[in-house]
Amino acid sequence: MLRRTAATVTLVVTLTAGWALPTPPAHAAVTPCSRGTVALTFDDGPHARSTPRVLDVLAGRRVKATFFQVGSMVAANPAVARRVHADGHVLANHTYRHENLTRLGNADIRRTIDRTNRAIVGIGAPKPTLVRPPYGATSTRVRDVISGMGMRQLLWDVDPQDWRSGRSAATIRDLVLRGLRDGAVVLLHDASANVDRSIAALPAIIDGARSRGYCLGTLDQAGRVVPPVPAARIDDVEVTEGAAGTKRSAVLTVRLSEPTSRAVSIDWTTVDGSAVAGEDYKAASGTLTIPRGATRGTIKVTVRGDDLDEPNERFTIRLRSPAGVTLARAKARVTILDDDPPAASTKADASAERDAGEGAADTAQTPDAPADADVPTGAPTEDGDAATGATAEEDVQEADDDSGAPTGPATEASDAGTGGDP
Ligand SMILES: [Zn+2]
Repeated sequence: MLRRTAATVTLVVTLTAGWALPTPPAHAAVTPCSRGTVALTFDDGPHARSTPRVLDVLAGRRVKATFFQVGSMVAANPAVARRVHADGHVLANHTYRHENLTRLGNADIRRTIDRTNRAIVGIGAPKPTLVRPPYGATSTRVRDVISGMGMRQLLWDVDPQDWRSGRSAATIRDLVLRGLRDGAVVLLHDASANVDRSIAALPAIIDGARSRGYCLGTLDQAGRVVPPVPAARIDDVEVTEGAAGTKRSAVLTVRLSEPTSRAVSIDWTTVDGSAVAGEDYKAASGTLTIPRGATRGTIKVTVRGDDLDEPNERFTIRLRSPAGVTLARAKARVTILDDDPPAASTKADASAERDAGEGAADTAQTPDAPADADVPTGAPTEDGDAATGATAEEDVQEADDDSGAPTGPATEASDAGTGGDP
């Protein structure tokens, strides 16, 4: 019995797998960056004509890469090297005259590497920490000499031999895409006799890597592949305040310039403007975490309603302490739109707390408030939820954020785009 059951299960699994395997969608929707990060590296430049074309492709697709530069080429084409640096790429060391380091004595190894470092520093880039020996020709001795200079030897994982005469763009592309895995370093050339094909393959390499769920990153000083560091922006928002005793959520969206392969986090806090915490909105702070592959998250802050006819009021959400992300726009304004009619034309509830004049017919709960005072109606004490009346439901857009947790942060991270966009 047991055996038969097991056999049945096995059969089902086999059939399911057999059914699924032959028909994967050509490019199933893959979460961006979900497979990790790979690094594109370009050797043998900077070249006066071909390197700018490589830079144009990278810039057009917002890719940062690492350039292993030949010192004599830097000296010959300093403006190109400067642009490589200005475009945000990493400059690394590929010796001064593309020497085979295994054929040099230790002093000459140090000399060619040091001279290249000086050329790169000379165009305004940081002193390189990575050395790629030409031809990949190295040895324990060569590696130790490099280490002794406080630098690190870095080779590659994926080599489509794009420099080979006649190697087609399609072949270069296929060899690169086939070799990708998380953390892979891809060797390409921005100067070679076959560079036209390398450049022709580049857009398809970038798009293909991304469609397979890889981010394109650079190398850090230790030679590790670093995920992209997106820029975050928070948008202004307007929210209509609602009636006294009700609460609404101001939902602020934080957008990243691109997806990345690690979660990023940003602290946030509310800051008073003409709107005052505890009266017009609920003070809050927290940490927004945007998951890997996502490009947006939301922050929710509770806005309190009142029945006072008053100007629109504002407060600020400020972002800080970004991790894995830079801040391109770190402050957003929340405008609370007043929805109360002027006193003279009011009827029903709005009239009660405006002026004693006609007598408070409807509600007895509201303390007498001067016309332009900021006393929060119905909420005489702290920042709690006491003001929530029985009529609040229809105005509470987000039912969760403050029930039962009077002072907790109202953070929520999501890229789903569902939820509370106003
Ligand atoms: Zn080379």
